[in-house]
Amino acid sequence: MRRMATRSLRTVCNRDCPDACGLIATVEDGRLVRLGGDPAHPVTRGFLCSRTSQFPARQNSPDRLTTPLLREGSVFRPVSWDDAIRFAAERLLAIRAESGPAAILHYRSGGSLGLVKSVVDLFFELLGPVTVKRGDICSGAGDAAQEADFGDEEAHDLFDLGTSRGSSSGGRTRLSPTSTSFRSSRKQRRVAPTSS
Ligand code: SF4
Repeated sequence: MRRMATRSLRTVCNRDCPDACGLIATVEDGRLVRLGGDPAHPVTRGFLCSRTSQFPARQNSPDRLTTPLLREGSVFRPVSWDDAIRFAAERLLAIRAESGPAAILHYRSGGSLGLVKSVVDLFFELLGPVTVKRGDICSGAGDAAQEADFGDEEAHDLFDLGTSRGSSSGGRTRLSPTSTSFRSSRKQRRVAPTSS
């Protein structure tokens, strides 16, 4: 019987979350089967939130969409990646030729902070200039509060937070892993229980 090739890889979470938790990924025969927190990470120290711990099950779920779907009226028809890319390219080029690049709206938010997201931005910059959103209903509030308070978005060194006597968060909830650092919040609460 063939033995599975199992590897443990040290990596980081790339979701839209300031923590960037250190992860240990268990890979069997090239397939991610488990994610755990990396206890050797100096800040996150083995922590892993529930949504990322459930990621392998979602990644490997038979219900996960892995094929592009082309909408035809009220029906979504599976198509190949080549067909999907050709369709999108033809539509984008037709709109640019007919109405100019500003008629194309490129909208994206977070979800993950992987480098591939930057490639999409570069693509639309080269295609355009296209229309993009201004402001943000998510982190934009926190960005604006920091800039109004301090003139910039600079922050303390994470390891310096533990020496603070108090702290405040403006425009963001401290309970959301998508907008606030779990680990830094926990560290602040432990050291400065009167912080807001
Ligand atoms: S807390 Fe944030 S960085 Fe850490 S595992 Fe969850 S989503 Fe990823």
